[in-house]
Amino acid sequence: MGEADRVLVIGAGIVGISAALALQARGRAVTVLDRAGVAAGASAGNAGAFAFADILPLASPGIIARAPRWLLDPLGPLSIPPRHALAILPWLMRFWRASWRDRVEASTRAQAALMTHCAAALDRQLADTGAGHLIRAEGQLALYEPAARAAGEADWAMRAAHSVVAERLDGAAAIAEVQPGLAQRFTLGFFTPGWRNATDPLAFAEWLAQVFRDRGGRIERAEVRGLSADAEVATAHLADGAARRAGHLVLAAGAFSHLLAKSLGERLPLETERGYNVTLPPGEVELRTHLTFPSHGFVMTRIGSRIRVGGAVELGGLKLPPNHARGDAMLGKARSFLPGLPGTGGARWMGFRPSLPDSLPAIGRSAASPRVIHACGHGHLGLTQAAGTAELVADLVCGGTPALDLAPFRPDRFARFP
Ligand SMILES: Cc1cc2nc3c(=O)[nH]c(=O)nc-3n(C[C@H](O)[C@H](O)[C@H](O)COP(=O)(O)OP(=O)(O)OC[C@H]3O[C@@H](n4cnc5c(N)ncnc54)[C@H](O)[C@@H]3O)c2cc1C
Repeated sequence: MGEADRVLVIGAGIVGISAALALQARGRAVTVLDRAGVAAGASAGNAGAFAFADILPLASPGIIARAPRWLLDPLGPLSIPPRHALAILPWLMRFWRASWRDRVEASTRAQAALMTHCAAALDRQLADTGAGHLIRAEGQLALYEPAARAAGEADWAMRAAHSVVAERLDGAAAIAEVQPGLAQRFTLGFFTPGWRNATDPLAFAEWLAQVFRDRGGRIERAEVRGLSADAEVATAHLADGAARRAGHLVLAAGAFSHLLAKSLGERLPLETERGYNVTLPPGEVELRTHLTFPSHGFVMTRIGSRIRVGGAVELGGLKLPPNHARGDAMLGKARSFLPGLPGTGGARWMGFRPSLPDSLPAIGRSAASPRVIHACGHGHLGLTQAAGTAELVADLVCGGTPALDLAPFRPDRFARFP
């Protein structure tokens, strides 16, 4: 096989591994490069949700209204450490613009179309890789207190307009039929019966990586310092001075992707929304479904026999140390929402969500070179959208027509703003 048929994938997170599998299925010789190994980044510790119902962007008139109150609480659902506030200003400007009604409608439409594609692609990936035993289908329950009722109704009405199926649960008694034991403060729920979860996102990514290896794929431990490309090949320049060349290169380095795009002369406004979780040992509480607390910015879910409480958005960049008090504060709230959750013995984790201001990923050819394909910026939805992104990337590399219009996901869509 010649150099032109080889593909390099940078990043062995869920997006990179899924892309590698899809390219391999189309007959390409694929090498994945990762400095830390399989699913060492955000893909290891996320909440494991295939959140196909989550089509609404984070940037919305609602969040702009709520942000000042949230920002006043240093351990609340949204925070910006003062040391990072100035650096993130350009991203915040774009985020604010993305929250205008016309933009919200456009990004919701695009996200809904991507989700439809991704749900079908996940089924194909599971059938192809035999990973079905790592999935559970127990639905999801979003919960609202009286003060958040109107916002909850409006959100789910928007989802319903894009064919998201949910059952409305009015009152604590109706909610208790789906999930017993919750505090009575929640008086409105929306249950999405079709929702699925990975039983453990790390185990899921590792399974896919093993299938890729078993089929002859290579995963190498290597730090990529920069990229270059000419008419024929793309090159990854490694920290040890070596170089790897291929006909195409897929950039799937999660929250670090913009640093490599920069070496090609591209500016990708990628920031990290740092998220936290605490994974609790098995206890008395029986969690029957994936619980979401939208007004509090966190979820509660089963990971194997444990319970993970995770969420929060901290716009704190890639360098500041984690502030695990944030995860502890979430756990405190979670224990008052679902009494009986263990308060000690939890493992704490922080991960870097790779986020673009409009909550849509970057899927498409690099403006700097058609030999480089972007597959990054999936924010809160990287696990959800990995299989679908992988098929789109394979279409671009192999010259097929992508299954959906990729214009809303163009990596250079922010080039003209502000
Ligand atoms: C608290 C939390 C909860 C979440 N819950 C969910 C959820 O329920 N559902 C969902 O869909 N999403 C969820 N997400 C988001 C999801 O985890 C991410 O969108 C997803 O993991 C991103 O995958 P990725 O492959 O793009 O990046 P990553 O998993 O971060 O992988 C990127 C890889 O690139 C490698 N890399 C980076 N730079 C270089 C370099 N220079 N050279 C070599 N290798 C490099 C890294 O080592 C890493 O392994 C959550 C995130 C957080 C933080």
